[in-house]
Amino acid sequence: MRIILLGPPGAGKGTQAKAMARRLELPHISTGDLLRQNVSEGTSLGKQAKGFMNKGMLVPDELVARMLSARFKQQDIKKGFMLDGYPRNLAQARTLADMLKDGGMKIDAVIYLDTSESVVIQRLGGRLVCKSCGANFHIKNMPPKVKGVCDNCGGALYQRADDNEATIKNRLNVYEKEVSGLIEYYRKAGLLQRVPADEDAPLVLDKIVKLLQRNNDFSKV
Ligand code: AMP
Repeated sequence: MRIILLGPPGAGKGTQAKAMARRLELPHISTGDLLRQNVSEGTSLGKQAKGFMNKGMLVPDELVARMLSARFKQQDIKKGFMLDGYPRNLAQARTLADMLKDGGMKIDAVIYLDTSESVVIQRLGGRLVCKSCGANFHIKNMPPKVKGVCDNCGGALYQRADDNEATIKNRLNVYEKEVSGLIEYYRKAGLLQRVPADEDAPLVLDKIVKLLQRNNDFSKV
């Protein structure tokens, strides 16, 4: 099964993609995570991407496409994937379609996490991420059992460099500008499924699972 999760920054794409990936035993591919990994390893891609990311701007399509294409060559994606953070615009959606076609694959569903702006700002402002396993927490909505420590692996929690008010606003503006074309593209392709996503993560996950079960014969969901 190949699923794309769409939605504004803070919609819960990462949280839901991780949960769905675990449930379906599929790899979770997050272009944001892959880029952050490149930044922290100081690769040439990471050096080129860092400035864009810190300003809340999109990293140039060509760089992200090259990175994703390399990821798609790995064996584990043969059984499917949960794609999170890509595509971010129409050009990327077309690039993705070409990449998948070359590999004899196609997308099964696009889940759009429909979230209001106030919820997004509240979520991003308090988000905490584990340095080791990437799990997400929230200062208020989902605090870790021990302050600053990941419940899952004991790793240190940090706030992302781009989760500050000015950058959050810029990321939302960038998203707004690009999203309508993207939604229309997947709606026309008959793939788009809207899920209201203002509620807490477990409730939203439930809705996604029910939707996939209703529309498809996914025995594992
Ligand atoms: P995310 O973790 O998805 O919120 O992404 C964090 C940042 O990584 C974004 O604000 C962009 O700067 C960059 N990024 C992630 N995915 C993409 C993409 N598909 N295209 C361009 N830039 C991206």
